[in-house]
Amino acid sequence: MITEKVVLNICVGEVERTLSIVKPDGVKKNLIGEVIRRFEQKGLRIAALKMLRISRDEARGFYIVHKERPFYESLTSFMSEGPIVVMVVEGEDAIAKVREIMGATNPKDAAPGTIRADFASDIEHNIVHGSDSPESASYEIPYFFSAIEINYQY
Ligand code: UDP
Ligand code: MG
Repeated sequence: MITEKVVLNICVGEVERTLSIVKPDGVKKNLIGEVIRRFEQKGLRIAALKMLRISRDEARGFYIVHKERPFYESLTSFMSEGPIVVMVVEGEDAIAKVREIMGATNPKDAAPGTIRADFASDIEHNIVHGSDSPESASYEIPYFFSAIEINYQY
């Protein structure tokens, strides 16, 4: 069925969208609100949001690009060990902005004031995920959300 939301989804081109996740360690540390606050404070909008727990295989599918990496099994185990919050974040340069707010993968390398510098305990347990490119976002967003679950605020 072609609804107004589906049409908007197709037509709105100039605003970038990215998939972000508050990982199980972030949820356990009560950082859901803090992560969202930092995105909103930089002018980004939350277009979709939900909390769920993914299976090991669902985590493996999400991180399929890393399947040959030594950390793949440990990472996918960690990602399925507790609930996560997944969200679609939108705005101008949303992909780069979210990555900037997150900080480097390893908290030891993350710039001061970034989420990972402030809260991550190590390179694996680093609180937050953000798509690294438009190609990644176009795989990751539909992994969790259908078109009618994504809302536009224009
Ligand atoms: N990761 C890990 N060890 C590494 C590199 C990455 O455990 O040496 C984990 C970490 O949780 C990271 C995720 O795997 O966030 C995905 O890795 P990627 O290189 O894509 O980092 P990100 O894009 O999340 O910064
Ligand atoms: Mg990545």
